[in-house]
Amino acid sequence: SAKAQGKSAFAFYEPSMNLAIEKRLKIEQHLRSTPELDEFYIVFQPQVSTKSGTIRGFEALLRWNSDTLGNVDTGEFISVAEDTGIIVPIGEWVIREACSQIGSLNSARNTSYTLAVNVSPIQLKSPGYSSNLKKILEETSFDPKLLEIEITENVFIHHKDGMITETLEELLRIGVRVALDDFGTGYSSLSYLNKLPIQTLKVDKNFISNQRDPRTRSMLESIIIMAHKLQLSVIAEGVEKKEELALLKRLDCDFIQGYYFSKPVLFEEIFSLDIL
Ligand code: C2E
Ligand code: MG
Ligand code: MG
Ligand code: MG
Repeated sequence: SAKAQGKSAFAFYEPSMNLAIEKRLKIEQHLRSTPELDEFYIVFQPQVSTKSGTIRGFEALLRWNSDTLGNVDTGEFISVAEDTGIIVPIGEWVIREACSQIGSLNSARNTSYTLAVNVSPIQLKSPGYSSNLKKILEETSFDPKLLEIEITENVFIHHKDGMITETLEELLRIGVRVALDDFGTGYSSLSYLNKLPIQTLKVDKNFISNQRDPRTRSMLESIIIMAHKLQLSVIAEGVEKKEELALLKRLDCDFIQGYYFSKPVLFEEIFSLDIL
């Protein structure tokens, strides 16, 4: 404790804490000064059908290669972008860019790959979110039925249920699908599964990688059965190993996403994926 260490009343300021705060401030400064978005790019990770081994579609994941900070961890800068509200213009850019890229892939190949995009609560509750999204879909000629918005249970922690649910229902009317991401982490409540207008459940990596624990395994099995009874598709996240894939096949999980098939890749690299 601070007392035990002697006179300093400020000993609770760990140097590592200062570093973390400094880094956050740096990220914030640079995020604010990069409104032209030219340092951002998107990588795509395939979602593969467990049964057929074919690609259902791709999740868009944002990357930031800063002139001054280098590659910044996505989770880290997204959190700063949310706190500052900068996530709204960035998120709009992500949807537009990803729709135009996967849209061009679909027309070139005559395919119907889905596109999954992560959307934060700040975006969902920003005014006119769904009408703006509708406009972007029109401008990029992207089929709304191929777009899947990924939200997490966090949308309900700090925000009024009613407002978010209303926006999600507007999205459904446009034809856009909604997936619940990172299911099983955080403050999961089964009531969300019942209340939310979702079509897809993404089971968090923790349930996939801890297969040696029989309880985790039982939970994974139960989650998949429950999701199917609720007419939801199930995607397993973070699948890295052959044994994990084999188990998920046995459990009748619909789709698999993870390094086992592919890391997230640049748009240009999609064409050289050997599972395409
Ligand atoms: P997420 O949506 O749950 O995305 C899955 C994360 O797991 C990604 O991390 C992905 O690169 C990583 N991953 C995929 N397969 C594997 C695997 O087999 N093993 C392991 N260990 N990891 C795997 P990433 O790209 O760093 O993104 C982190 C989070 O940042 C995302 O989690 C998402 O919540 C958020 N995010 C990413 N892009 C966006 C965006 O455009 N907008 C918003 N609002 N959030 C985003
Ligand atoms: Mg710049
Ligand atoms: Mg996601
Ligand atoms: Mg996830």
